Amino acid sequence: MMLSEQTILNTYDKDCDKVYLKKLYLGVVTMANGVEDFYCDEVLCGKTAVEKVLETENTLAFYHTRPFYDVHIVVIPKKHITSLIDFKPEDKDVLADLFLVIQKVSRQVNDNYGACTVSTNLGDYQSNKHMHWHVHYGNRIKFLDGTWC
Ligand SMILES: [Zn+2]
Repeated sequence: MMLSEQTILNTYDKDCDKVYLKKLYLGVVTMANGVEDFYCDEVLCGKTAVEKVLETENTLAFYHTRPFYDVHIVVIPKKHITSLIDFKPEDKDVLADLFLVIQKVSRQVNDNYGACTVSTNLGDYQSNKHMHWHVHYGNRIKFLDGTWC
């Protein structure tokens, strides 16, 4: 992390992922167990167990291991695709499957809670360099010290 602590404190206070980067810089947390691609290096290879929501041949949906929200599900392609802006035309079948899973999971959250947000991050907002979609409902969860997770 090349940014100075002061830059991070000034810039990154309001965004959840950026607060996480701040905590990372300050040594409060380590980045996804110290790896840049938590999903390939830990989840898909089975090193870190996750609570699955839905799984197909190409897609895995599971409860976030560090949830930011009351209900927080992550949906990933099993094939490594770095981000939304990196997929190739030949990935279309993987993406079609991924979006069917996102649809099913978000429909289930919407049916159960009456609302749902679906999002993905890019660039500096994306702390984990494997395309992943957040499906969530409810309030942002705070750390015990009052800061946002
Ligand atoms: Zn990956």
